Amino acid sequence: MNKSNINVGVLALQGAFREHINSIKMCGAKAIEIRFPDQLEEVDGLIIPGGESTTIGKLINKYNFKPYLDEFYSSGKAIYGTCAGLILVAKKVLNEDIGLGYIDIEAQRNSYGRQIDSFEEYVTLGFDGKEKFKAIFIRAPRILKIGPTVDILSKINDNIILARQNNVLVSTFHPELQEDTRIHEYFLKMIGKSIKREN
Ligand code: GLN
Repeated sequence: MNKSNINVGVLALQGAFREHINSIKMCGAKAIEIRFPDQLEEVDGLIIPGGESTTIGKLINKYNFKPYLDEFYSSGKAIYGTCAGLILVAKKVLNEDIGLGYIDIEAQRNSYGRQIDSFEEYVTLGFDGKEKFKAIFIRAPRILKIGPTVDILSKINDNIILARQNNVLVSTFHPELQEDTRIHEYFLKMIGKSIKREN
């Protein structure tokens, strides 16, 4: 499928949704802000952005998004959670009842502590061996455990920072806060494949 025909929804309840919209548009695909659950029917893939997972979680409940998100996930459409978005799609979150259970990981919120509020690292992406990617971490979560069918796509030392299970992609960092669109391009490829399977 031609990228320009792909329409990506970015959950726009709170957080860094505008930046993801820009990144997807920079890749040459369409992107819309999702504010109401029935808008999910219009899109081929969904990004759940970084922000404050407690707030986004509350708004998901308030606007009754959960059954629509569950349906979106079950239908095999691609979902990408960054940072707070990762926490929201996780199967388990340490000491909290917040994860929607779309990817078999256990996450811990704010896992690098107060001293290290945010930092940057140049990392290697598992799906392309080219130059390093600038990963920006902001009060980032850690992935503590993964299930056997989760693929690790990038790591810093022992910390998994980018992972995928079937149609769900997660990163503990914010790729939308800089110009390098390789992860968004990769997500668009995931969407392209999920659409082909559907037809
Ligand atoms: N610390 C935030 C949370 O736990 C996530 C931070 C972010 O998305 N940059 O929800």
